[in-house]
Amino acid sequence: MNVSFYTLGCKLNYAETSQLQHVFEQAGHAVVPFGQPSDAVIINTCTVTENADKECRQIIRRALRTSPEAFVGVTGCYAQLQPEEIASIEGVDAVFGAKEKFKIPSLVEGVAGGFRKFATPHCFVDELDGDIEFVEAHSSQTDSRTRAFLKLQDGCNYKCSFCTIPLARGKSRAMEFSRIPEKIRELERAGYYEVVLSGINLGDYRASTGEEFTDVVRAIEALQPNLRVRISSIEPNLLTNEIIDIIAQSRVFCPSFHIPLQSGSPEILRQMRRRYKADYYAELVHRIHSAMPDAAIGVDVIVGFPTESDAYFEETFQFLHELPVSYLHVFSYSERENTPAAELSAHGGSVPAHKRAERSKQLRTLSAKKKLHFYHEQAKSLNASNHAAFGERIVIPEQRNAETGLWSGWTENYVRVEFAAPHLLVQAPVRVRLQEVNPATSGETMLAEYVGQVQREASHHAAYIPIMA
Ligand code: SF4
Repeated sequence: MNVSFYTLGCKLNYAETSQLQHVFEQAGHAVVPFGQPSDAVIINTCTVTENADKECRQIIRRALRTSPEAFVGVTGCYAQLQPEEIASIEGVDAVFGAKEKFKIPSLVEGVAGGFRKFATPHCFVDELDGDIEFVEAHSSQTDSRTRAFLKLQDGCNYKCSFCTIPLARGKSRAMEFSRIPEKIRELERAGYYEVVLSGINLGDYRASTGEEFTDVVRAIEALQPNLRVRISSIEPNLLTNEIIDIIAQSRVFCPSFHIPLQSGSPEILRQMRRRYKADYYAELVHRIHSAMPDAAIGVDVIVGFPTESDAYFEETFQFLHELPVSYLHVFSYSERENTPAAELSAHGGSVPAHKRAERSKQLRTLSAKKKLHFYHEQAKSLNASNHAAFGERIVIPEQRNAETGLWSGWTENYVRVEFAAPHLLVQAPVRVRLQEVNPATSGETMLAEYVGQVQREASHHAAYIPIMA
């Protein structure tokens, strides 16, 4: 049977879809690209957006236009939280929860003749109580296999008042500690140049043998793999001094951080039930910045949380304005069922939609300025990266713009660069010298001068990555 997949949401969902494809292949099915005729379509959903059901409907319609007889299965966070709602969408044959996600082929075989259109939709969705098995997964950013997202942790034990993810994914669980070096070596052998350590609450990693996330960072650093490693996102209260110290000295870990803040107002942080204070967050950012002045520091922030007055928003704006961060990911608060924040909203705390939009715009403008400042600083900086020779950066080329002929990719400290390299034969790491912000991309990229491909033993400063011939 031919199966196609469609994924919505976060990188973890993409990693899990890759694993799901593997499960289908092992069960004897063939995976075909979404949009090609197939016997079954599996949609892996997200619940963060309010538009989840709308997107789900659109994808089902698209799938059924190409393959009118296809079996349509829906899984993911939205499926776990709203199975009946999904089952009522025309065209859906079955809904699978978080516990059932990786068992889809065996669950469906034997039910109503297997992967055929069911007369009535089936819901295979169990409660998420008790311990849940951790399922390993990784995915590739592009077909070129430059960057892999490695799932180390799943679920969340926190109770942030706006978030439904703990309900959709269950308790925190993690990959066995002893598996991590093996897994990194496996990705290295498969030819990846960068691994992004991923999880729902990655910093809350805790192995059954007691190791925590700091131990993971220490173990990977000791391994010295021939690839670079990035930490996807980490809660501020879980980013330890030791992790910062290791990264500051490392030739393996990238000096780039993504640290959710959510609000700079002490009162809103308290209402959000976050586990740190604004002062602590500011001190953390300053500590990173003084240890690694060129490190990228990205921040998640939510605007329009219930009871966020103009004054509370202003606190957030000023807080971020003064911090040496590199960019913001701005989210407009949206009410999620069964959360304390939605209750606050229902009881008079709701922020009008136009204010949410206006605040979001203000922070996006601030983010663009922060990024521009960060890029300008990079152009001036003579700070040598641990990863490259003096004044140079290492980029893993990801794609070539057909119009401009320029290659683009990310430096180790998360600067998006474009450079000309007419004889680039493989998408292996290259050295570049940063020049200036590219006006043609409104400050989204920097132009760089191509220096050469990274050699295995070019100097003791570099060459942590081998060239793939
Ligand atoms: S840390 Fe908070 S925001 Fe993040 S998944 Fe857990 S409950 Fe949600």
